[in-house]
Amino acid sequence: MVHPPLAATALLLVASPFIGSFLGTLAYRMPRGRSALGGRSACPACGVTLGPADLLPVLGYAWRGGRCGQCGVPISRDYPAIELAALAAAVWAVMVLPGWQGWAVCVLGWFLIALAAIDLRHFLLPDTLTLSLVTLGLALSVLGILAPGLAWPVQPVDAAGGALLGFAVLTVVGMVYRGLRGRSGIGLGDAKLLAAAGAWAGWQGLPGVVLIAALSALAFAGARGAWTRRLPRSGDPVPFGPYLALGTWLVVLYGPMAFGF
Ligand SMILES: [Zn+2]
Repeated sequence: MVHPPLAATALLLVASPFIGSFLGTLAYRMPRGRSALGGRSACPACGVTLGPADLLPVLGYAWRGGRCGQCGVPISRDYPAIELAALAAAVWAVMVLPGWQGWAVCVLGWFLIALAAIDLRHFLLPDTLTLSLVTLGLALSVLGILAPGLAWPVQPVDAAGGALLGFAVLTVVGMVYRGLRGRSGIGLGDAKLLAAAGAWAGWQGLPGVVLIAALSALAFAGARGAWTRRLPRSGDPVPFGPYLALGTWLVVLYGPMAFGF
């Protein structure tokens, strides 16, 4: 097993809020058809270009009191939340998985954060992100063949099977739902995200991912219903991506649930 030096892991943790800042920009720009790479970050209200202090993760937000320094318009809390989430994912990953595998799972976590953030705001899981995750998961599974020190716990055939099965399961569920209810509830984006889960965790991980996603979605809907004292209407759009992301994260970190067999 290849272990990155401690200094490199420290660097990863220091860099992760800045990666989170990039993820926040990505989550804002991608659904609007804009590149996250080109162009300086600017206030969406007055257009003033953000300075170096504003671009400091979390601290920049706190320093300005959560408002644009130029026009005083509140800045979305999504930004510091995503920056903290990116840091939390990095800490969590390197604590649970030693060596380079923790780094790989950290990258998975950053993708999942961007996907969850976009789905929460736009009910959308961009192909660029889901299909990149499928590719990365498959690539990790064959890495051990090329370099034995970089062996990934999921075999290539299990990863490929997981990607196909994950996609097939939610595509079929979506079709059945559409047939019964006359409108779409589960999108192809969800199916591609479950394909990514299968590519990373292997087909053996899929029951755990779906179970965690379904239970956490129900728990959240119940908690929100109790909080707002309103029963959720069946027509309310519910993003399923964040729950699938949570299931994927937990199963890749802690292994598939055995269910006694
Ligand atoms: Zn402004």
